[in-house]
Amino acid sequence: MDFADAPEDEAFRNELREWLDTNLADFEAEESFDAEGIKKMYERRKAWQLRMAKAGWAAINWPTELGGRDATLMQNVIYSQEMAKSKAPGIYNANGVWQIGPMIIRWGTQEQKDLWLNSILYAEDHWCQGFTEPEAGSDLANLRLLAIQDGEDYVLDGQKIWCTTAHLAKWGLFLVRTDPTAIERGAKHEGITALIVDMEAPGITATPITDIVGENSFCLVTFDQARCPVKYRLGNEGEGWLVAMGTLTSERVGTAGLSITMKADLDTVVERSRSLNPGALADPDLRDRLARAYTQIELTRLLNVRALSKVLKGEKGWPEVQIAKLQWSHLAQTLAELQVDLLGPSALLARGGPDAVDKGQWSRLYSYQRYTSIGAGTTQVQKNIIADRAIKLPRK
Ligand SMILES: Cc1cc2nc3c(=O)[nH]c(=O)nc-3n(C[C@H](O)[C@H](O)[C@H](O)COP(=O)(O)OP(=O)(O)OC[C@H]3O[C@@H](n4cnc5c(N)ncnc54)[C@H](O)[C@@H]3O)c2cc1C
Repeated sequence: MDFADAPEDEAFRNELREWLDTNLADFEAEESFDAEGIKKMYERRKAWQLRMAKAGWAAINWPTELGGRDATLMQNVIYSQEMAKSKAPGIYNANGVWQIGPMIIRWGTQEQKDLWLNSILYAEDHWCQGFTEPEAGSDLANLRLLAIQDGEDYVLDGQKIWCTTAHLAKWGLFLVRTDPTAIERGAKHEGITALIVDMEAPGITATPITDIVGENSFCLVTFDQARCPVKYRLGNEGEGWLVAMGTLTSERVGTAGLSITMKADLDTVVERSRSLNPGALADPDLRDRLARAYTQIELTRLLNVRALSKVLKGEKGWPEVQIAKLQWSHLAQTLAELQVDLLGPSALLARGGPDAVDKGQWSRLYSYQRYTSIGAGTTQVQKNIIADRAIKLPRK
């Protein structure tokens, strides 16, 4: 494969790089993760997204007339690489821009597009996504949050769990069960409907759950006779599975910059360890782990390139995309462990302590990265898919 940018891609890269150079300067605040720091982080992300949106850089996959750039796959890769290289902050509505917005564009009526797309793009409101339930995670089609039509509304009863930042959201894309007989009929993928829910409606409660690092990053959302207008339905009744699958597919876009971020983080820690824990770099075991880590990062990059090359040729990115997800979660956790070991025992001191290294950010990362084997498909389920469909291992 030729790794050089085509002229139009080179122009795209240069324009983006130039824009980032000019616009990032006043956004380079250090992130901190106490309650005040998190509040500031969201304010900063909101302002950053607005600035990006005004310049057409927030939602590059959206059509140009809706504020996007109709970006190609290659431009998505370049975008991901340049964002990683420049260490640009995250945006306020990542879910909305990458997953929910494209679904509204694909399935929404004109009235729905007018109502919601600007709210997502210009970070006017925060958006969340409610798919998982206490009894429906990997087996998502088992979902049971009931929505029964009553006049102009659906009446919702049940629960969703692990909804990221639902307590901050004004709107959310939810999957609900409109045909309660479907599961008993053995047709659980049927009778699921996608609704955009006003999170401030009576009967909806988002209760934050404290996560492994002590932050309130996600919620249990309960619905008690909550009403959602039928006109907020995305697609037809019973088409929710189609809408959801489109949403989850979009989740896999934009991972090309990960190896850049990982390498930059590892370089930073190696430099930091020279002053903080100098013996570490002379330790044969740690040196061996470091060499393996850099090799694995390069392998991850090449795996992404291989998947990309296939897709550009019109083939499916299979099974590289699934393997890349596994590789990413394994590597993210391996690196987090290595980084803490390189920095020495004080790197494990938690946030808030006077001696915590870099305000405890490495010990936080060490715990936080456990999520990578759950989010976007759990490790065990991904392995099952690869064993079943790629290696074609016999079933019992
Ligand atoms: C940081 C984070 C943010 C999230 N944000 C959101 C959000 O915004 N909205 C939302 O809807 N959800 C969100 N989720 C939830 C996420 O989608 C689910 O956690 C995920 O789908 C797994 O479901 P579960 O937690 O019910 O685990 P389960 O599916 O119950 O799995 C439990 C364990 O059993 C294993 N397992 C399950 N099935 C099989 C099988 N067939 N064979 C072998 N092993 C199996 C799994 O691998 C796992 O180890 C988030 C999760 C995390 C960690």
